[in-house]
Amino acid sequence: MPKSPPNHSSRFGSAHAERRPRGGEPARYDRQRLRQELASRMEDLRLRAAAADEAARSLADGCDLDAADAGSRRAAVADERRRADEAREQLGRVQAARCRLDDGTFGRCVSCGTFIDPERMSAVPYTELCVSCSRGAEGGGR
Ligand SMILES: [Zn+2]
Repeated sequence: MPKSPPNHSSRFGSAHAERRPRGGEPARYDRQRLRQELASRMEDLRLRAAAADEAARSLADGCDLDAADAGSRRAAVADERRRADEAREQLGRVQAARCRLDDGTFGRCVSCGTFIDPERMSAVPYTELCVSCSRGAEGGGR
């Protein structure tokens, strides 16, 4: 038997009429996919932060080491804490990106409001700054 009889498949894309010929709009983002991607990233980062916290805690708790090991242990604790902080910071950025997805400002530079290159956005969906602003932010230190 053939598995799919072609009876019901005649009406298909009738509900999809949201093409708007507007020149100013940049790439259209697949919001649903982005939301899923951001959500899974958030999950991942949360786990990473928790794991690093846990590692730092158990390293800090271990008091059966001699003095020589204490120094490297302290360094390892600091390392895990930093890792947890980084994960949390990135988590904040991902959350902010998801908010922008909701309020419709996704894809714009948070600093100057320009549309960010869609390629850049799809590479890192929580990008906040356009190329020139991020250049300014990174390079313009003291
Ligand atoms: Zn900018």
